[in-house]
Amino acid sequence: MRKKIEDVPVITEEMMRKTLKKKWKHKKEPMIKKSFKCPICEVGTAEYSDSLCFDVVLGGEHIIIPNLSGHRCNACKEEFYDARSSKIVDRFAAEKIPTGHEATVSVAGGGRLGIYLPKDILRAMKIKAKEKVLITPVSKKKMIVELGA
Ligand SMILES: [Zn+2]
Repeated sequence: MRKKIEDVPVITEEMMRKTLKKKWKHKKEPMIKKSFKCPICEVGTAEYSDSLCFDVVLGGEHIIIPNLSGHRCNACKEEFYDARSSKIVDRFAAEKIPTGHEATVSVAGGGRLGIYLPKDILRAMKIKAKEKVLITPVSKKKMIVELGA
């Protein structure tokens, strides 16, 4: 009877915890649950929480990502996401491309136009050199650049 029970693989909470721990250890990103002194206000204590909420307006769109884990300062309320939550936030934020970025034209003339774009735009849009683009001038001050044309 006892053997039969042991044969059935049951994923217990304990097993999930151990797997998670192993995974984090392997990636060298340990989950730190210990409280630490807040580096922002240097007064409060950042305490572990798994109910942090990322709340930001990106590209005119309001995004909220709930149930994130990390630390929250009990004084200034600054939130510090752990590695896993940071990845989630990055992924969501990269999908929403902020508008109205400033860039400087570095090359113009001779049929060439070079613009230094902010890094987060390059990352979010996955722009590569030599990529074909479709350019549509809208007015003297505006043009549309379509990638992968
Ligand atoms: Zn603080």
